[in-house]
Amino acid sequence: MENEEKRRALESALARTDELFDKFSDVLRQDFSGKSHVRRDFSQVVEKLIPEPKVSEPSGEAPMNEEGEDERLHMSFEALLSDAQKCSRCGLCSTRTNVVFGTGCTDRPTVMVIGEGPGENEDLQGLPFVGRAGQFLDKWLDAISLSRDRNVYITNTVKCRPPQNRDPFPDEKQACFAYLKQQISIIHPQALLCVGRPASTLMTGQPEASMGSLRGRFFFFDGIPMICTYHPAAVLRDPELKRPVWDDLKKLARYLGLPVGGK
Ligand code: URA
Repeated sequence: MENEEKRRALESALARTDELFDKFSDVLRQDFSGKSHVRRDFSQVVEKLIPEPKVSEPSGEAPMNEEGEDERLHMSFEALLSDAQKCSRCGLCSTRTNVVFGTGCTDRPTVMVIGEGPGENEDLQGLPFVGRAGQFLDKWLDAISLSRDRNVYITNTVKCRPPQNRDPFPDEKQACFAYLKQQISIIHPQALLCVGRPASTLMTGQPEASMGSLRGRFFFFDGIPMICTYHPAAVLRDPELKRPVWDDLKKLARYLGLPVGGK
């Protein structure tokens, strides 16, 4: 946890230095054209300075069908949920209180939000984004005419809480990925919104990319448009991230034709 915070702080400091450097260069060149530049990716620097632990203890194998495919990719929503409730495909099962599968509209919602993993409150209640970060996320959604009660489904890359709220390890995200893929395929949202680096790197297939390099851009996942932005918990820690998040949300709203800020 402590290391993870250091990693995030370092990455955000490097991204900010990068931005300042660019602004400074623009001034020197008297170039006020406002062109956005390509962010440098600092993840390798961060990885070298503060290496991320990579493995947890898997305690189960993913059952395959005869074609060697993960059987979850063929399950109905109900079967998938009941499979998840008893899942032991990674070590997180040994410390969870509840499996946090997802919540909200399951019938072609406007947006599916993908977070990193349940925290303490989520683990206790069995629902995603119910703590402080979740209340903040609800405000973001409301600002672009979205709500988990009407047109949003919310889930996470992993369905069980990582101990001490650490980021989920890559092998844990992989073990859980078939649930997420099948949720997306069945629920079929109009767009995906990834919040935070663990979800954004997983869903874009760019494990080394920084949040600064992924945010604000449209990607496609299985043909579904997808945008990435910072995690609400990161914005609570660093209010300077509010502006880029708002830009990203407006971009998503414009794409979906949603009214912004009650207008
Ligand atoms: N943070 C997440 O990424 N997901 C939750 O469900 C809660 C907090």
